[in-house]
Amino acid sequence: MKKNSKYFKSKPCPLCGSSGSRRRYPVNKAYANEMSGIDITEVDIGVDECVKCGHQFVQPSPQPQFLKAFYSSYMSEAKDGFYMERASEVITPGFRTRYGKWLDRVRDALKTQSPVLLDVGTGLGMFLRLAKEKGFEVAGVEPNREAATELEKRYGISVHCCLLEDLSTKEKYDSVTMLDIIEHMSDPRKAIDIVKGVLKPGGLLLMEVPVRDSFIHWAVKGVYRATLSKVKRPIHQVYGVHHLQYFSSRSIKALLEENGFKVVMSGYDESDVKALCKRPGRGIFSMAKTLAYNAAMRGAFLAAKTVGKQNKLIIIGRKES
Ligand SMILES: [Zn+2]
Repeated sequence: MKKNSKYFKSKPCPLCGSSGSRRRYPVNKAYANEMSGIDITEVDIGVDECVKCGHQFVQPSPQPQFLKAFYSSYMSEAKDGFYMERASEVITPGFRTRYGKWLDRVRDALKTQSPVLLDVGTGLGMFLRLAKEKGFEVAGVEPNREAATELEKRYGISVHCCLLEDLSTKEKYDSVTMLDIIEHMSDPRKAIDIVKGVLKPGGLLLMEVPVRDSFIHWAVKGVYRATLSKVKRPIHQVYGVHHLQYFSSRSIKALLEENGFKVVMSGYDESDVKALCKRPGRGIFSMAKTLAYNAAMRGAFLAAKTVGKQNKLIIIGRKES
């Protein structure tokens, strides 16, 4: 395992540019080590809060070489892990229900025949396949070559195989979608600016963003504080080095409104709890541990739904002309 801190660099607040920040929470280093093959155990890294605007972000910031190593296992995760659902040939009913309603909203608000949609961080493309079914013309942006090739070959969907920052196109889109992606980006302002550049006037940006003012964040932070920072397992579920930004429902709306968008719709939604539950291992002890973990996960999701503060915020912003 490689071991050093050259993969991280301190940077000012990605939202307001202020250089003052203070440490608030730990990040899950074991998961980062496992995914990247780089040992960051000794690196002084965590989630900081900007002293000026209150934005939370990973500090020091992971550099491209680290992120590249981290995401290199994306396809194996897709084939046998967290993203497995999205590798499926058949669009699963849960996925259809969860995203179909947002696609309907976008299509109805656009009032355009066959609107053209660009999805950023399209992965294995289940979302684009659903959008196609719903009458959109679709294209994707996906830096993973294997995923992009598969999408073009198997489903005839055109993919810009690059990062959003490197996107070069003259095409203008009726809608851009960013699902669970902006929190992975080191410069969210720049990302929104690029999206604005490829949208037609009045075009719609649909985003799904995990938010730190959800019930689950509140609960895991509560456990962390109540145990005087000793019990870290629950908080490690929500704070990882690959989520570079931790938005609140207010800060993500402000990011859009300060950068030429009008928020026309927003609401809480939840991840697919089934994908987050673990598969039981062998042996009674391991099985009991997994069952307890899954029960806690389902209980937390149910409580979040009951209080109406689930872990994701869905936002639709209209580009102001
Ligand atoms: Zn700030």
